[in-house]
Amino acid sequence: MGRSATPLSRGRLPSSRIPVGMLAALTRLLLDTVAPRRCAACDEVSNPSICSRCVAALNALPIPAVRRMRNGSAFAGFEFVEPVRAALHRGKYGGDREALQELAAITAERLSGPRLFTPDAIVAIPLGPRRRRQRGYNQAAVIAAVIAEARDVPVVDTLARIRDTRPQTARDEATRRDNVAGAFGWTGSPLGGSYLWLVDDVLTTGATAGAAAAVLVQAGASLVDVVAVAAVS
Ligand SMILES: [Zn+2]
Repeated sequence: MGRSATPLSRGRLPSSRIPVGMLAALTRLLLDTVAPRRCAACDEVSNPSICSRCVAALNALPIPAVRRMRNGSAFAGFEFVEPVRAALHRGKYGGDREALQELAAITAERLSGPRLFTPDAIVAIPLGPRRRRQRGYNQAAVIAAVIAEARDVPVVDTLARIRDTRPQTARDEATRRDNVAGAFGWTGSPLGGSYLWLVDDVLTTGATAGAAAAVLVQAGASLVDVVAVAAVS
């Protein structure tokens, strides 16, 4: 930032006099006129990312049973059913981060009972760099941030995806375990007996979460519970 930076940018960018907030609001208005926002779950026109009818439908769904894992337990806000599946899909592949945030907020509320103690910190399952670039964000990190805020604990982002794994869809459990073995590495300081939540969007067989949890335990965590928005039963 040299001394000439301000006059130069003023000269080159006359539009910078419009406040950024106003510009964003105008852009939003324009977008809403061209293509109104739609509910991520039912696709009806809706200003909130998930409409009130779908939020009510979500809240009426049962909370899945707790699943035992090697290094802790796995909790999910929902079974992987509609309209959870549609909203997650939009959040993951359709760029609708707000839908993920809404699902995460409802999940945090649903898991706020006495079943689950507040952890020392929260870790999101990382995406490989290639998929992170393609998507522009890590859906698990978006969810983790909301859950961490609800519990007032920090997010630790030093769990790394060492290598990109192939998509886990349609693989049996043993193949899934092989696929994720060695996929994660801890790059932070030792975890000194801490209790962590490992956050992901969807829990399927638990192979991915299990591999990541094992790395956290190796790094010194005493207990790692998995928290996901949805679980495939
Ligand atoms: Zn809806």
